[in-house]
Amino acid sequence: MTGIETKQHIQQRYQEQLEQAVILASRHVKEGKVASYIPELAKSDPNHLSAAVVLMDGSVIAAGNTQTRFTLQSIAKLFSLAIALADHGCEYVFSRVGMEPTGDPFNSIMKLEAIKPHKPLNPMINAGAIVVCDMVKGNGCEERTERILSLLRKMTGNPEICVNHAVYLSEKNSANRNRALAYFMKDSGVLTGDVEDTLDFYFRHCSIEVNTQDVAWMASVLAADGAHPVTGERLIDERIAGICKTFMVTCGMYNASGEFAIQVGIPAKSGVAGGIMATVPMQMGIGVYSPGLDEKGNSLAGVKLLQELSNLWNLSIF
Ligand code: GLU
Repeated sequence: MTGIETKQHIQQRYQEQLEQAVILASRHVKEGKVASYIPELAKSDPNHLSAAVVLMDGSVIAAGNTQTRFTLQSIAKLFSLAIALADHGCEYVFSRVGMEPTGDPFNSIMKLEAIKPHKPLNPMINAGAIVVCDMVKGNGCEERTERILSLLRKMTGNPEICVNHAVYLSEKNSANRNRALAYFMKDSGVLTGDVEDTLDFYFRHCSIEVNTQDVAWMASVLAADGAHPVTGERLIDERIAGICKTFMVTCGMYNASGEFAIQVGIPAKSGVAGGIMATVPMQMGIGVYSPGLDEKGNSLAGVKLLQELSNLWNLSIF
């Protein structure tokens, strides 16, 4: 391209490159394994791959199976954290949950007992996220769920975002590990509220259903330090948005966060349904989805796709 590249040209170039990256990454969809420990997730089509990018001027670029809907799972943990931080402030929240990566799987129970006091190491592992859910203000799980839905609807501009009831029930009925974590924490005084109500909110918020475009919009708000990139409405406090992005870098990709930081180099959070939300400060929000996971629980083709985009668009923040 010679001379000044117009907005339309830039968008067209991004569109072509995104489509190309989706084609390249789709070669890997069969290498991943769809999560089955939540039975409803096992029904996902392993061949699906989609990606969406929201630029700071609000233009949207999308490629692949863009209509496919999936549940946020661990991606939701960032937004319950944002709400808990707004409700109570940093000092209180981080007196109950730590800030350090674990190097262990997301649902590990090991360090919880070994470390005294039994405070979960960070809000991105299940134990930490359950404590964060315990801190979200609201009259029962219904009201707490409405609060996070309301935030996500504003971030995405999609008023239809809601909980996938089948996934929620499936998760609730198969949550032996999360119940064990929660009751252990209740026993040791880390969890203060009603355990089942807190777990119910946790399951519901993990089961919020979206598509890649919704995820890209959420990421674009974080990219713009918590303000909506188009309307300018402040949805998340700037300091809290910064904390969310920091956790995305240090613990967002489970115990592969270090490797991802080196290979892709942008704040990202994945969920076991196969979604990844990635954010490039002041540039773009990215949502990707492919349900086949690698051995650490990250979308295998999704990571390949982000790697490709990072190289192509020189996205690494490091
Ligand atoms: N709802 C999932 C669980 O509790 C979230 C895990 C994830 O996405 O990492 O196991």
